[in-house]
Amino acid sequence: MSQGIVVSKFGGTSMADATAMRRSAGVAKLKNSSIVVVSATSGTTNILVELSQMVTNSTWEGCKATIQKIIDNHLQIARDLEVPEACMHDLDELFKELKTLVRGMNLLKEASPKACDSLFSLGERMSSRLFTECLNQLREDTEVSCFDVRTVLRTDSNFGKAEPNFEMIKKLTDQHLLDVKYAGRVFVTQGFIGRDADGATTTLGRGGSDYSAAILAYALGAEKLEIWTDVAGIATTDPRLCSNARPIDVISFQEAAELASFGAKVLHPTTLLPAMWADIPVFVGSSYEPEKEGTWIIKDPKERPLIRAMAVKKDQTLLTLKNPNMLHAHGFLFDVFKVFNQHRVSVDSITTSEISVSMTVDDSTLLNRTLLEDLRQLGEVLVEEDLSLISLIGNNINHTPGLAAEIFNALGDINVRMICLGASKHNFCFLVNEQRAGDAIDRLHTRFIG
Ligand code: ADP
Ligand code: ASP
Ligand code: MG
Repeated sequence: MSQGIVVSKFGGTSMADATAMRRSAGVAKLKNSSIVVVSATSGTTNILVELSQMVTNSTWEGCKATIQKIIDNHLQIARDLEVPEACMHDLDELFKELKTLVRGMNLLKEASPKACDSLFSLGERMSSRLFTECLNQLREDTEVSCFDVRTVLRTDSNFGKAEPNFEMIKKLTDQHLLDVKYAGRVFVTQGFIGRDADGATTTLGRGGSDYSAAILAYALGAEKLEIWTDVAGIATTDPRLCSNARPIDVISFQEAAELASFGAKVLHPTTLLPAMWADIPVFVGSSYEPEKEGTWIIKDPKERPLIRAMAVKKDQTLLTLKNPNMLHAHGFLFDVFKVFNQHRVSVDSITTSEISVSMTVDDSTLLNRTLLEDLRQLGEVLVEEDLSLISLIGNNINHTPGLAAEIFNALGDINVRMICLGASKHNFCFLVNEQRAGDAIDRLHTRFIG
């Protein structure tokens, strides 16, 4: 019954202005999308983040000027799209909410994660209202409505990086989005945002709209999920880093998930999980050039090359914890990871020796000074910053003789600070100095992809 539902997500650059919105609406019509998930207009979330920092150290006058920038950008799009009075009224309500919220935060000098999530949600709420009109103008054949995703997207209360509650989302989707399944209606909705059990607005973390679209596709049993962005698919490496990067036609869920987790910004890292569970094919394409082929992410691609792609995760810190008592002792790693768990910090890669363990984390983690203090209770901690994690993604990587030798040959004089190989057949990753990351990608791309 649910067959045929297409969930399409359009990122910030696809919402940048009236022209980009019209182009994206054309794509949503062409693809007969039933659920259209949108990001905030390009740059808006960044300005909202800036505002959240200003509320504690700036005057109301300063905040007002920044708020006005956001309002002007959206009014310009509204004028260019010639939206009707009802839409102007709704936008006006959102502008009022923006001012009231920032005023309150500024008076209290409070930028709690909870208040920030409510503030950040306004970007997607404004863009989705505008895009609903834009799509409505194009789709005379069916009714297009703006749907508040918070009605169904239930999360926990971990503001700033909330976790979806899939069971509740499925239940709520069945209750509130029946018309998509049975009446063929089209809904435009927000990416990135959700609501906890107490009714407070939450967000899924930066870049989270991809994840929102995948969650909805899963809950609705969609036939496919489309991610429309500013590049024509997933490339062999970030096109901004390497001019030889070229689009990939088909890639497996596992490889794409490794790529996303290890730094390819084109997809939010957790996007593919719900799609994998329900075996929903995912398409990644450019809303600027929808006729180009793009990339299909599927369960079982025919071709399984040894090296399909490579990614860079910048701003990595290597934490090395050393304790001679680790020698022949048990339970040490358990204690180490208990600390990371308490601080909700994720470790990207790890290697151990007899008396030490090294782990990589995002640089921003060190803003959390208490993490370091807690680790120091377990031994001496060495901190090395300004590193990049380079990953080679492909198939059968851990069972291919001679591969490591070829990789290190290609790297030549670039020092490798730490290596992770063996845990996954899809990934070989290692750390290099941030300044050499571009060189490393160039050399490896030339050697393995061409
Ligand atoms: P959106 O706003 O549509 O979500 P993003 O900026 O989050 O778009 O992601 C698209 C960007 O991801 C591209 O412009 C590109 O620079 C970057 N990117 C990083 N790695 C890759 C890759 N392997 N293939 C394609 N794009 C990549
Ligand atoms: N607007 C949010 C961000 O910029 C979410 C997204 O675009 O995916 O992070
Ligand atoms: Mg993105």
